[in-house]
Amino acid sequence: MRSVWCGEIRAEHEGQEVTLNGWAHKVRDLGGLLFIDLRDRTGLVQLMIDPETQGKPDIKPESSLSVTGRVSLRDEAARNPKMTTGDIEVVVSGLTVLNPCGVLPFPLSDEDQMARVNEELRVKYRYLDLRRPTMYQRLAVRADCVRRMRQFLDERGFLEIETPIFTRSTPEGARDYLVPYRLEPGHFYALPQSPQQYKQLLMVAGIERYYQIAKCFRDEAQRSDRQPEFTQLDLEMSYIQQEDVLELIEGLTLEVVNGVIEKFGLAKDKIGPFKRMTYDESMRLFGNDKPDVRFGLNLFDIEEVARGCGFGVFKSTIESGGCVRGVRYPGGASLSRKEVGELEEFCKGFGAKGMASLGLVAEPGEGTVDLGDGRHAKGSVAKFFSLEELHAIFLAGKAEPGDLLCFIADSWTVSCEVLSRLRLLVGDRCGLRDPRKLAFVFVVDFPLVHWEPETGLWEPSHHPFTSPKAEDLVYLDTDPGRIRADCYDVVCNGVEWASGSIRINRPDIQARIFQLIGISEEEQQSRFGHILEAFTFGAPPHGGIAPGIDRLVMFLMDDENIREVIAFPKLGGGYDPMMGAPSDIDAKQWEEMGLTVRSVSARLQ
Ligand code: ASP
Repeated sequence: MRSVWCGEIRAEHEGQEVTLNGWAHKVRDLGGLLFIDLRDRTGLVQLMIDPETQGKPDIKPESSLSVTGRVSLRDEAARNPKMTTGDIEVVVSGLTVLNPCGVLPFPLSDEDQMARVNEELRVKYRYLDLRRPTMYQRLAVRADCVRRMRQFLDERGFLEIETPIFTRSTPEGARDYLVPYRLEPGHFYALPQSPQQYKQLLMVAGIERYYQIAKCFRDEAQRSDRQPEFTQLDLEMSYIQQEDVLELIEGLTLEVVNGVIEKFGLAKDKIGPFKRMTYDESMRLFGNDKPDVRFGLNLFDIEEVARGCGFGVFKSTIESGGCVRGVRYPGGASLSRKEVGELEEFCKGFGAKGMASLGLVAEPGEGTVDLGDGRHAKGSVAKFFSLEELHAIFLAGKAEPGDLLCFIADSWTVSCEVLSRLRLLVGDRCGLRDPRKLAFVFVVDFPLVHWEPETGLWEPSHHPFTSPKAEDLVYLDTDPGRIRADCYDVVCNGVEWASGSIRINRPDIQARIFQLIGISEEEQQSRFGHILEAFTFGAPPHGGIAPGIDRLVMFLMDDENIREVIAFPKLGGGYDPMMGAPSDIDAKQWEEMGLTVRSVSARLQ
């Protein structure tokens, strides 16, 4: 129905007769003439209607139009350099309202006002929200990412294979979504938390290189970067080692990210090779396993000084097996006492008992301690340290005059939790988290399991199919927390993006790991008998990884919320206000399913 797209008409089309389709974006009645910005997915073009020849049609914004007209150059003064079609307009000779638009729930042509619209309303009318060019661009970027991923993998001999949605539980640390099975009441399918077991079985099947743009379903607490159903690029390879997977995923990411940045002119710097660090290093330098490496401010340890110092809190923490670590706050020495107090409150919010701080300043002031080299220590705790100790502390913290060093004296776990957050806060305040940068980093050598005090069990750090490092298997019976896994994550700007591992391919080792995480032999057979059996048929060594597609688009588009990059997202609690899902079912369906209601949630009542 169209001869050309709205956003693609240029001065060289002058004089051509065109047919356009799209929505009335904005309508301006300038008395003598009527101007309409017509919008399709490529952009806007200005229509000019002369009431003398065309009459004055009553066109409501967002009505669907078909228009014919002649492309005409605008007068110099009327050109709009902000519009790609700003040099021309289309003088209308025929206009049909294909379908008028009723009263809109929100002003979708006004981006400033849209920023204030309630999100539930946007999701309820998602089909209108998606008409906005900014939303269209997100979907276009997303489609292009997926297209490039497919191309990259196809070129390397990967086979795209779909795995079932109705299946059995595949544990990834969340609750399952369950689907009742009509033919045998009391039996349920589980929706896959990931295609993990299927992709491993595909390796047993000799596929060698598999991928899938896979929907995963996880019933877990929602966060701004999580949705109950999300999409990942799931892949698996046989006869490979960890390095092969890392090399593949790095190459793929460089090609996809740099290609998309260039094509869409996104406000991001191109990316280069990934950094790499071990889990232990990451915890030591950043306090967590998802470091934002766009900036330094690495955590530092002052155990040696703290052990013998006169500051009781530090000394006793070390004596009782804890640690004293800190982070540098560039320019923080000028914070007021009240502001430092607020930092301390922030730390307490994440479990710290307190926060000590020491400023380094050039000029002496009230209560400062002269360091004897033209510098002075500032802060109420300075007096507890000898000059030598103060020098050692400022050296450890790489402090420059004007900086504040903030310390947490606590258990290793609490110091990690608190300092990792404090570091990010300082990074934000100092403008160090550059939005143009995408800092990808591999974190490797995760522990295989960690102790979960709540359940009193060892739990897999990743999932139960991850292979322990062969050389660490000796700790299986004596010190399981020491076993490192052939497991890796890709982190971007402080957010986990991909997780993967080399898998166990031997049934005896798999059974031992199941045993370690508290799955009895009987339960192993009932829940995982199929995969244990499969491993007895010459299962090859294999491994893989799965980066999140929604999150990649979030990074590229600088979105804080994952909902922005999903066409039809769920709100909190997994609710979809557009479709009204989840919904009640009718009496007949209850009966057919052999189900009875025990309680009805408040929302459905
Ligand atoms: N199944 C894992 C996940 O969804 C990815 C993998 O280990 O390949 O996180």
